[in-house]
Amino acid sequence: MLISSEGIVLRQTRITGGRRLINLFTRDYGKITAGTSLNEKGKSRAALALRPFTYSEYDIFKSKNSFNINSASVRESFYSIGEDMDRYFAASKLIEYIDSILEEGVPSPKLFEMTIECLRCMSESVNGPRTLLYAFVIKSLRVLGVMPHTASCINCGREDVVLPVFSVTAGGLLCSECASLHGIQESGREPSRLIYEPSFDIVQVLDYFIKTPFRQFIRLNLKPEVESELEMIVSEYVSYYLGSDVFRNSVSLGIE
Ligand SMILES: [Zn+2]
Repeated sequence: MLISSEGIVLRQTRITGGRRLINLFTRDYGKITAGTSLNEKGKSRAALALRPFTYSEYDIFKSKNSFNINSASVRESFYSIGEDMDRYFAASKLIEYIDSILEEGVPSPKLFEMTIECLRCMSESVNGPRTLLYAFVIKSLRVLGVMPHTASCINCGREDVVLPVFSVTAGGLLCSECASLHGIQESGREPSRLIYEPSFDIVQVLDYFIKTPFRQFIRLNLKPEVESELEMIVSEYVSYYLGSDVFRNSVSLGIE
């Protein structure tokens, strides 16, 4: 059966016979693995569509157990990502993250839209491609239904107290009382990596990331101290809830 879908290349691997395996994030079919004899070298429309950071339309032959990309044409190329190290690094992490959280064959049009818009903004970003990356990750938590709970203490439900502690394992904020109880339960389970006392207003920051469109992050940089703390929390959080170690392994996203 011939199908067609918009998509973006997540990864590609050379296989025998001059063929490639392409991991493609498609709008209509989610993440799929497709073989192809098309080559990214050269200047043909199909060649360009196999390059990284390119949003394309793919014509795919679908058999019972496999996909083959027959032809492709570029819709939009975010080529300027490759012209800047910071953009390139942030966009590569974005693609790696998406690849790690998507299940094969499960469509997620919302995440697809977000990916295209985030790459578009990264390609135009002036000084904050990493802020766009955090914005994507935090927005994705909401789409995937694992957004941290911040409206009240996640353990006792109190709203009228200060909530100074963010617990990864509990999935949100804790009041001081519950935090000390929780801390005891957590001892021996890497408590220092899973319980944080953010020095910034994490409720405000998460809320801002959720409500603000990607476009507004093009010129926005987080304060370095907020960024490094947020990165630590987010990397442990996505590792714990989504099994994605993309940010954990990077240790630092290049913060000086
Ligand atoms: Zn509590």
